[in-house]
Amino acid sequence: MALREQSRTSQRKVTLDYLFTLFHLAKPKASDLLLKTLIIAVIYAITAKFSLEFAMLPGKITAVWLPSGLTFAFVTWFGRRALPGIALGSIAFMLWNQLTMSLSWPISSDIVAIVACAVANSLQPVIGVGMIQRLTHRPPSLDRMQTVISFVVAATIAPMLPAFIGITTSALVGIVPWSNYGISWFTWWSAGVVAILVFTPTLLFWSQAAESVHPRLRQEVLGILGTTLGLCWLIFGQGYPVEYVLLLVLIWSGLRLGNFATSALVSLIAMIAIVSTAHSLGVFAGNSPTYSLVILQSFIAVCSVSSLVLRGALNAQKAVELSLEKTLLSLEQQVSDRTAQLRESQAILDGFFSVAPVGLGIVDRELRYVRVNTLMAAMHNLPAESHIGRSIREIQPDLASEIEPVYHQVLSTGQPVLNREENNQLPHQDNPIQTWLATYFPILNLAQTPTQVGIVLMEISEIKQLEQQLRQQAYMDGLTQIANRLYFNEVFELEWRRCGRSQQPLSIILCDLDEFKAYNDTYGHPMGDQCLKQFANVLTQAINRPGDLVARYGGEEFVVILPDTNADGALRVAERIRQCLHQRQIPHCRSSVAPYVTVSLGIATCIPALPQQPNDLLQAADTALYESKRQGRDRITQIDLEPIAE
Ligand code: GH3
Ligand code: MG
Ligand code: MG
Repeated sequence: MALREQSRTSQRKVTLDYLFTLFHLAKPKASDLLLKTLIIAVIYAITAKFSLEFAMLPGKITAVWLPSGLTFAFVTWFGRRALPGIALGSIAFMLWNQLTMSLSWPISSDIVAIVACAVANSLQPVIGVGMIQRLTHRPPSLDRMQTVISFVVAATIAPMLPAFIGITTSALVGIVPWSNYGISWFTWWSAGVVAILVFTPTLLFWSQAAESVHPRLRQEVLGILGTTLGLCWLIFGQGYPVEYVLLLVLIWSGLRLGNFATSALVSLIAMIAIVSTAHSLGVFAGNSPTYSLVILQSFIAVCSVSSLVLRGALNAQKAVELSLEKTLLSLEQQVSDRTAQLRESQAILDGFFSVAPVGLGIVDRELRYVRVNTLMAAMHNLPAESHIGRSIREIQPDLASEIEPVYHQVLSTGQPVLNREENNQLPHQDNPIQTWLATYFPILNLAQTPTQVGIVLMEISEIKQLEQQLRQQAYMDGLTQIANRLYFNEVFELEWRRCGRSQQPLSIILCDLDEFKAYNDTYGHPMGDQCLKQFANVLTQAINRPGDLVARYGGEEFVVILPDTNADGALRVAERIRQCLHQRQIPHCRSSVAPYVTVSLGIATCIPALPQQPNDLLQAADTALYESKRQGRDRITQIDLEPIAE
């Protein structure tokens, strides 16, 4: 494909281009095939004639059989489709030769020789190209050392069998005397080898011709060409034996000009050497044609093989450089891809860190902050940057002793500590106490060892306040704003157990407003409610120990818990309640007891112990209250269960 494109650039390549198009058509027409066969045949015949005319040493020995170089290239390019053209060219040339040399039509023995030579000439490139394909598993390309060596081996071996077929047949039909068999075979073989070594590479590198004549190399091309021609004049014109200096020029060309130019230079030197020697000029022209042939061919072969090997080595180096460059590029691409991915992950992480609606932080094994987000920084009332590298003790001195063990625990166990409630009050002003829900989790390294601790802080101060409010509401009587019966039950149970453990007396006072139904009937329900509120107030004022509790037991009944209080103490409190209510002088005109609101009280006291239950004490207080009512109200009755307990 590349070859085809290149060939369009130069007028000289039109023929080749046309040949390629013809040979590579998927379904060529018969007329096209005929045309290409004719073109190959004509080229073959002309070059064969040229070989005879110009490459013949004195003594009728052909130093180079140009068609061998051509057919090798044809079969490389077009495969077996080139064979009819080669056979036809070979037959045409031999007929042409027969007619011009002996001026007679061939007799049957000549025809046998002509056919045998046509077969041999067609067979030669098939053997050569086939060998290269066998050795390298690809068509001949001369682009690396292995293919160059295979090419040289194939060029050497391929003409052996055709030489045998051609010369043996010619000897059998009497064209070549048997006495000349050896030299004839050698001449056929060596002329073929040299042609393949010298001219096939130039043709195979044809596609790279444009590179070799690049404008930037023009001066160097001229320099090399000039030096070559100058040396050739010295060697072949003047007879100076400096022929191997040409190798230096070939090295120069090989290093600087590339494959095509170097091969073309080899072809040029070979042609000059052959034509000069054929005309008995230069260092290779000797007394014996065989002597001339051997040194001429070996010189040409050395030039060709050296330049091919040099180019092969350079091509291999270039291939390695290219593949290295490619690898480097792909590595660079991979690195930049990975960097972009990492940057993106980092950006996502940074974004997550900065906008997460919770405080986030990371501390290292020395409990120094590695990273905090703005929310956590705000929780600590410090800028985020001020955290980095500073210890927990420096940032949160108040909390350090409490939370440091948690960090150590996470680092040593590798287990998270979830939902720990922490309270903190920021310095300055009258900041409210803040409550945070903190989760501490281990951050593992590649070896799965915890090396850092991640912290998630969620401020739950508002939730806590709300919870507090809800709890209060659940335990508070809505009207009187004192504890309700639910709360009383819980506290009473607790105090029962606590006093049981400490064997301290526990007293309760049950209070019931006297003739309150009548009060409601007289003054109305709203006034009744006001009265209940006032009595709750009386109760709250009457107790003075922190452990005491007043609660609305239900309706106009109230209860007082007095832990660690014996019967005497409870009586004093009850009396205080009764007197206090008296002092309020809340009018109650329909009371049968007094003109103002009064209360009846029942006290029960005991030191809690089995088999008694809290309910027993409550029952006793109720009995006592009932007794107060029965005895005329506005009084206190006391039941002490202690003796019973004993
Ligand atoms: P006693 O002296 O025997 O206790 O007579 P009493 O009228 O107080 O008798 P009782 O305990 O049967 O009546 C209680 C009354 O208390 C009934 C009801 O009208 C009134 N009461 C109960 N709860 C409330 C309340 O929340 N608000 C108001 N205003 N009155 C209530
Ligand atoms: Mg009542
Ligand atoms: Mg009552």
